Amino acid sequence: MTTILAPTRILIVDDNAAIHDDFRKVLATSKADQLADDEQFLFGESQRTTESHEFEIDSAFQGEEGLAKVRAAARSGRPYTMAFIDVRMPPGWDGIETISRIWDEYPTLQIVICTAYSDYSWHEICERLPHRQNLLILKKPFDAIEVMQLAYALTEKARLATEVAQHVACLEQRIQERTLELQRSNQELKSQVAQREQAESHLQHLAFHDTLTGLANRQCLQHNLQESIELAHSNPSEKFAVMFVDLDRFKSINDGLGHEVGDELLKVFSSRIEKTLRMDDLMNSTGAETLAGRLGGDEFVIILKKLRESIDAIHVAERLLRILDRPYEIQGQTIHVSPSVGVVNFDPRYQHSSEMLRDADTAMYEAKLKGGDSFVVFEPSMQAAIQVRLSMEHDLRQAIIAGQFWLAYQPIWSVQDLSLQGVEALIRWSHPEKGMIRPDLFIPIAEQTKLIVPIGEWVLRESCAQFGKWKRAGLPQFPKYISVNLSRVQLMQPGLIDIVKSTLEESQMQGSELQFEVTESMIMEDPQQACKVISQLKSLGVRLAIDDFGTGHSSLACLHEFQLDVLKIDRSFVKQMNEGTANPALLNAIVRLAENLGLECVAEGVEEREQLQQLGVIGCPRVQGYLLGKPKSNADFVNEYLLAPHLSASTVAANVECTTPSGSLVFDANLAPSPSLRV
Ligand code: C2E
Ligand code: CA
Ligand code: CA
Repeated sequence: MTTILAPTRILIVDDNAAIHDDFRKVLATSKADQLADDEQFLFGESQRTTESHEFEIDSAFQGEEGLAKVRAAARSGRPYTMAFIDVRMPPGWDGIETISRIWDEYPTLQIVICTAYSDYSWHEICERLPHRQNLLILKKPFDAIEVMQLAYALTEKARLATEVAQHVACLEQRIQERTLELQRSNQELKSQVAQREQAESHLQHLAFHDTLTGLANRQCLQHNLQESIELAHSNPSEKFAVMFVDLDRFKSINDGLGHEVGDELLKVFSSRIEKTLRMDDLMNSTGAETLAGRLGGDEFVIILKKLRESIDAIHVAERLLRILDRPYEIQGQTIHVSPSVGVVNFDPRYQHSSEMLRDADTAMYEAKLKGGDSFVVFEPSMQAAIQVRLSMEHDLRQAIIAGQFWLAYQPIWSVQDLSLQGVEALIRWSHPEKGMIRPDLFIPIAEQTKLIVPIGEWVLRESCAQFGKWKRAGLPQFPKYISVNLSRVQLMQPGLIDIVKSTLEESQMQGSELQFEVTESMIMEDPQQACKVISQLKSLGVRLAIDDFGTGHSSLACLHEFQLDVLKIDRSFVKQMNEGTANPALLNAIVRLAENLGLECVAEGVEEREQLQQLGVIGCPRVQGYLLGKPKSNADFVNEYLLAPHLSASTVAANVECTTPSGSLVFDANLAPSPSLRV
């Protein structure tokens, strides 16, 4: 099969016009068919698909003209495939010069140099021309076949060269594209790697930092602390300390003001810790290092490394406490909150971070027991105390389940006529192995562990149930109210009002028949919350007494804002009165002030007749104490006081003459005991 292609352009450069005609004759007359035959003849490939060429012949008669034509043909987009160039072309450039100039610009042009025997040798030509692979020599005189052969061969060569060049260009383009593609995927890979690294470092940060405050987290602290312990073991001069910081009353802030405020407070609190440590002159001047972290909740830990002296930790704790004590402005509210800090210095007996954290926690706990807002340095003896507390906590839980608690009742009397006015319910714990355990030993632990909530609820329900039974039994003597001690934890407990309401209903009591005793410190710890709870309690009609008054350093006028009914003057005042150390003017003043504020005064802990007498003189209206009745079991209380009016009071105080501002009063000693009755 033969394909006719666009004519192949051939340039003849020769000064002799006749030569041009000869070329034309040989080349321009070749027709497709004939060419095909010639080709077959020339290449001997009968099976091959042949491409038939038609030659378009151009002429130039001088070298310069030849170059100009080559240029023009290239510019027109139809370049010459080959050129026949004569060697000798006077007066202009000779063939070698012409070829050299043409190749300067078109190095791929196939050229046949036409030369006579006497012209340049091949060697000379080679020396002068660079692209010898594109050069053939045609010796004069020409042979037509030879010319045809050259024309065909070079045309085919040019075609193949073009094909190869195109193929190479195509390959180059593909390589370039592939390279670009690779570069792109490389770039993508790089950015993926960068993203992954970023994600990894973010995860790493998350793994070691607290999300809320940005401080180190538990894992980071433990890791860091363990490293410090190991370093200190290998280098005995290394001193470091751990501080355990816990916010006092954080739970009531969280419950009362909401978690958002709580979280915000923790954030501000932690940034204040960080700032304080960063600005600490002592730490900075000694080259000490610090790491602050949050264990969780409101528990923070600070590691003080490279300390010069162990005592430095105490100085830092003091400063920290001072700064953390300052009020916090959170969402437009001013919040007062203090920390409790436990400090432990490294000691070679510590092997593991958990041991140091445990002891720092123990010291912090001691600070809390001291009332908070302070720091305590760990001492080994504290561990034993913790053990005692832990075992007590365990026993308390058992006691609740096994019903080991019971109530004792202590009467409250009128000084004027020694009539029974009220009764205070006091909890008792009969431990199966340890016997009776005093409430001042277990109540604080019940408060710390929140077990006081179920215990306190039991006390309230049990005492009211008992009061209801006495009431319904129609006894000869009967207290006007029952007084129940309320713990600070109960006061802050959200469900308290509902419990009180249902208890009053169940025991068919009037609100005024129930009195709660709270201490000054309980109120002053969180006056806002206390005020809220107290006014809710007051709306139920219950009486409210301030217990242990005089031990809390608060002003009476201030306390009066809390709608109180009763003031119980602490036992220590009464005790000192007897020893002559108390200032009777002070006691007198308290009684007068209470009188003016409409509060009923009860003097606690009256053990001796003289005390009772003096209280009568001062005009204290109510008394409570061993002299007139110790706390008794229900059965004893009923028998001794409720079944026999004035019996106990008259027995113990038979001959006490008590002068009151309203006159003289002698106790009735002639009342006979009544038969006992179980109520
Ligand atoms: P408190 O509320 O001040 O109770 C009075 C305490 O003084 C009682 O001690 C009582 O037995 C004792 N006492 C009464 N008269 C005299 C006296 O003339 N001389 C002396 N030396 N002491 C007298 P108790 O029962 O050991 O209770 C101690 C504390 O335990 C109570 O002090 C109260 O704070 C707390 N407590 C007792 N029962 C409860 C309760 O049910 N709930 C709560 N939250 N606390 C309770
Ligand atoms: Ca009390
Ligand atoms: Ca008291």
